[in-house]
Amino acid sequence: MKGSPTRLFAKLNVKVNKFERASSGTDFITSLDVAHACGLSLSEVQTMLLRVKWAGDSSLITPLIKTITKIQMRYARRKKWAMRKPDTIRRMVVMALREREIIRPRRVLTTVDSPFECGAEKCRVCKGVGRRYSRRQDKIITCERCEGTGERRWTDAERAGHCGIHRQNWSDKYVRRYLGLVEWLRATESGAVGAIRPYLADTHEEFLEMKGD
Ligand SMILES: [Zn+2]
Repeated sequence: MKGSPTRLFAKLNVKVNKFERASSGTDFITSLDVAHACGLSLSEVQTMLLRVKWAGDSSLITPLIKTITKIQMRYARRKKWAMRKPDTIRRMVVMALREREIIRPRRVLTTVDSPFECGAEKCRVCKGVGRRYSRRQDKIITCERCEGTGERRWTDAERAGHCGIHRQNWSDKYVRRYLGLVEWLRATESGAVGAIRPYLADTHEEFLEMKGD
Protein backbone atom coordinates (compact mmCIF):
# COMPACT_ATOMS: atom_id res chain seq x y z
CA MET A 1 0.00 0.00 0.00
CA LYS A 2 1.32 3.43 -0.97
CA GLY A 3 1.60 6.07 1.73
CA SER A 4 -0.52 9.05 0.79
CA PRO A 5 0.19 12.53 2.22
CA THR A 6 -3.48 12.93 3.10
CA ARG A 7 -3.51 9.78 5.19
CA LEU A 8 -0.32 10.80 6.93
CA PHE A 9 -1.61 14.26 7.64
CA ALA A 10 -4.79 12.83 9.11
CA LYS A 11 -2.74 10.56 11.32
CA LEU A 12 -0.42 13.36 12.31
CA ASN A 13 -3.28 15.67 13.17
CA VAL A 14 -4.68 13.10 15.56
CA LYS A 15 -1.28 12.81 17.18
CA VAL A 16 -0.77 16.55 17.40
CA ASN A 17 -4.15 16.99 19.06
CA LYS A 18 -3.29 14.31 21.57
CA PHE A 19 0.10 15.86 22.11
CA GLU A 20 -1.47 19.17 23.02
CA ARG A 21 -3.52 17.55 25.73
CA ALA A 22 -0.92 15.12 27.01
CA SER A 23 1.78 16.28 29.37
CA SER A 24 4.11 13.44 28.39
CA GLY A 25 4.12 10.17 26.51
CA THR A 26 6.08 8.66 23.68
CA ASP A 27 3.02 7.78 21.55
CA PHE A 28 2.69 11.39 20.50
CA ILE A 29 4.71 13.51 18.17
CA THR A 30 6.68 16.05 20.11
CA SER A 31 8.58 19.06 18.90
CA LEU A 32 11.79 17.11 19.44
CA ASP A 33 10.58 14.20 17.29
CA VAL A 34 9.99 16.65 14.48
CA ALA A 35 13.35 18.30 15.10
CA HIS A 36 15.06 14.93 14.95
CA ALA A 37 13.42 13.98 11.64
CA CYS A 38 14.12 17.45 10.25
CA GLY A 39 17.72 17.43 11.39
CA LEU A 40 18.44 14.98 8.63
CA SER A 41 18.27 17.33 5.69
CA LEU A 42 16.19 20.43 6.28
CA SER A 43 17.12 24.08 6.57
CA GLU A 44 16.74 26.07 9.78
CA VAL A 45 13.55 27.75 8.54
CA GLN A 46 12.03 24.45 7.44
CA THR A 47 12.76 22.85 10.80
CA MET A 48 11.23 25.74 12.70
CA LEU A 49 8.20 25.89 10.40
CA LEU A 50 7.39 22.24 11.01
CA ARG A 51 8.04 22.40 14.74
CA VAL A 52 5.70 25.36 15.09
CA LYS A 53 2.97 24.08 12.77
CA TRP A 54 3.02 20.38 13.53
CA ALA A 55 4.22 20.09 17.06
CA GLY A 56 2.68 23.32 18.33
CA ASP A 57 6.03 24.59 19.63
CA SER A 58 5.26 28.24 20.35
CA SER A 59 8.75 28.90 21.76
CA LEU A 60 10.00 28.96 18.16
CA ILE A 61 7.54 31.54 16.84
CA THR A 62 9.74 34.56 17.59
CA PRO A 63 12.93 33.04 16.10
CA LEU A 64 10.91 31.87 13.08
CA ILE A 65 9.58 35.38 12.39
CA LYS A 66 13.06 36.84 12.89
CA THR A 67 14.79 34.39 10.56
CA ILE A 68 12.25 34.74 7.75
CA THR A 69 12.30 38.54 8.09
CA LYS A 70 16.09 38.49 7.70
CA ILE A 71 15.87 36.33 4.57
CA GLN A 72 13.14 38.53 3.10
CA MET A 73 15.15 41.71 3.91
CA ARG A 74 18.10 40.37 1.93
CA TYR A 75 15.77 39.62 -0.96
CA ALA A 76 14.23 43.12 -0.78
CA ARG A 77 17.68 44.74 -0.86
CA ARG A 78 18.65 42.73 -3.91
CA LYS A 79 15.40 43.71 -5.64
CA LYS A 80 15.88 47.35 -4.52
CA TRP A 81 12.45 47.71 -2.91
CA ALA A 82 11.94 51.29 -1.72
CA MET A 83 10.41 51.11 1.75
CA ARG A 84 9.67 54.03 4.00
CA LYS A 85 8.83 52.11 7.17
CA PRO A 86 11.43 49.85 8.80
CA ASP A 87 8.97 47.18 9.98
CA THR A 88 7.10 46.64 6.71
CA ILE A 89 8.80 43.34 5.94
CA ARG A 90 8.30 41.96 9.43
CA ARG A 91 4.59 42.80 9.20
CA MET A 92 4.38 41.07 5.82
CA VAL A 93 6.08 37.99 7.27
CA VAL A 94 3.65 37.83 10.20
CA MET A 95 0.68 38.28 7.85
CA ALA A 96 1.95 35.53 5.54
CA LEU A 97 2.53 33.15 8.47
CA ARG A 98 -1.02 33.82 9.64
CA GLU A 99 -2.41 33.22 6.20
CA ARG A 100 -0.46 29.97 5.88
CA GLU A 101 -2.16 28.89 9.15
CA ILE A 102 1.12 28.59 11.03
CA ILE A 103 0.53 31.24 13.69
CA ARG A 104 -2.41 33.30 14.97
CA PRO A 105 -2.72 36.21 17.39
CA ARG A 106 -2.76 34.93 20.96
CA ARG A 107 -6.20 35.27 22.48
CA VAL A 108 -5.19 35.56 26.11
CA LEU A 109 -2.01 37.53 26.58
CA THR A 110 0.31 37.62 29.57
CA THR A 111 3.52 39.64 29.86
CA VAL A 112 5.82 36.68 29.24
CA ASP A 113 4.04 35.48 26.08
CA SER A 114 4.78 36.42 22.52
CA PRO A 115 1.73 38.03 20.91
CA PHE A 116 1.26 34.91 18.76
CA GLU A 117 0.43 31.24 19.29
CA CYS A 118 0.51 28.20 16.99
CA GLY A 119 -2.46 27.31 14.83
CA ALA A 120 -4.98 28.53 12.27
CA GLU A 121 -7.44 31.36 12.75
CA LYS A 122 -11.16 30.84 12.41
CA CYS A 123 -13.73 32.73 10.36
CA ARG A 124 -14.65 35.91 12.20
CA VAL A 125 -18.33 35.78 11.29
CA CYS A 126 -19.23 32.20 12.25
CA LYS A 127 -16.28 31.55 14.62
CA GLY A 128 -15.28 28.52 12.56
CA VAL A 129 -18.66 26.78 12.63
CA GLY A 130 -19.40 27.38 8.92
CA ARG A 131 -23.06 28.27 9.62
CA ARG A 132 -24.75 31.16 11.34
CA TYR A 133 -28.16 32.33 12.40
CA SER A 134 -29.71 34.90 10.07
CA ARG A 135 -32.08 37.23 11.87
CA ARG A 136 -33.57 38.45 8.60
CA GLN A 137 -34.36 34.98 7.29
CA ASP A 138 -35.04 33.60 10.79
CA LYS A 139 -33.05 30.41 10.14
CA ILE A 140 -29.56 28.93 10.20
CA ILE A 141 -27.71 29.63 6.95
CA THR A 142 -24.29 28.77 5.48
CA CYS A 143 -21.80 31.46 6.49
CA GLU A 144 -21.32 33.76 3.48
CA ARG A 145 -17.91 35.03 4.59
CA CYS A 146 -16.14 31.63 4.61
CA GLU A 147 -18.70 29.81 2.41
CA GLY A 148 -19.12 27.16 5.09
CA THR A 149 -15.46 26.22 5.51
CA GLY A 150 -15.02 27.99 8.84
CA GLU A 151 -11.62 29.27 7.69
CA ARG A 152 -10.45 32.82 8.15
CA ARG A 153 -10.30 34.71 4.83
CA TRP A 154 -8.49 37.97 4.30
CA THR A 155 -9.43 40.78 1.98
CA ASP A 156 -6.78 42.89 0.27
CA ALA A 157 -7.81 45.85 2.41
CA GLU A 158 -7.15 43.81 5.56
CA ARG A 159 -3.80 42.60 4.27
CA ALA A 160 -2.74 46.15 3.40
CA GLY A 161 -3.92 47.38 6.81
CA HIS A 162 -2.05 44.67 8.74
CA CYS A 163 1.14 45.42 6.80
CA GLY A 164 0.74 49.17 7.32
CA ILE A 165 0.67 49.97 3.60
CA HIS A 166 -1.66 52.43 1.91
CA ARG A 167 -4.32 50.72 -0.21
CA GLN A 168 -3.11 52.19 -3.52
CA ASN A 169 0.53 51.36 -2.85
CA TRP A 170 -0.56 47.88 -1.84
CA SER A 171 -2.30 47.13 -5.14
CA ASP A 172 0.45 48.87 -7.17
CA LYS A 173 3.46 47.15 -5.65
CA TYR A 174 2.89 45.10 -2.55
CA VAL A 175 0.30 42.53 -3.65
CA ARG A 176 2.85 40.94 -5.97
CA ARG A 177 5.62 41.08 -3.34
CA TYR A 178 3.37 39.70 -0.65
CA LEU A 179 2.04 36.84 -2.77
CA GLY A 180 5.64 36.01 -3.67
CA LEU A 181 6.41 35.67 0.03
CA VAL A 182 3.33 33.50 0.64
CA GLU A 183 4.33 31.28 -2.27
CA TRP A 184 7.91 31.02 -0.96
CA LEU A 185 6.52 29.94 2.43
CA ARG A 186 4.26 27.38 0.79
CA ALA A 187 7.10 25.90 -1.24
CA THR A 188 9.46 25.86 1.76
CA GLU A 189 6.87 24.07 3.85
CA SER A 190 5.98 21.63 1.11
CA GLY A 191 9.65 20.77 0.57
CA ALA A 192 10.01 20.12 4.29
CA VAL A 193 6.89 17.95 4.38
CA GLY A 194 8.17 15.88 1.46
CA ALA A 195 11.48 15.27 3.21
CA ILE A 196 10.06 14.44 6.61
CA ARG A 197 7.10 12.31 5.42
CA PRO A 198 8.87 8.90 5.44
CA TYR A 199 10.04 9.43 9.02
CA LEU A 200 6.46 9.66 10.22
CA ALA A 201 5.58 6.21 8.90
CA ASP A 202 4.09 3.68 11.31
CA THR A 203 6.04 0.69 10.07
CA HIS A 204 9.43 0.14 8.56
CA GLU A 205 7.76 -1.23 5.43
CA GLU A 206 5.78 1.96 4.99
CA PHE A 207 8.99 3.95 5.53
CA LEU A 208 10.79 2.07 2.75
CA GLU A 209 7.85 2.52 0.36
CA MET A 210 7.83 6.25 0.91
CA LYS A 211 11.58 6.59 0.70
CA GLY A 212 11.36 4.90 -2.68
CA ASP A 213 8.91 7.49 -4.10
ZN1 LIG B 1 -17.69 31.69 8.45
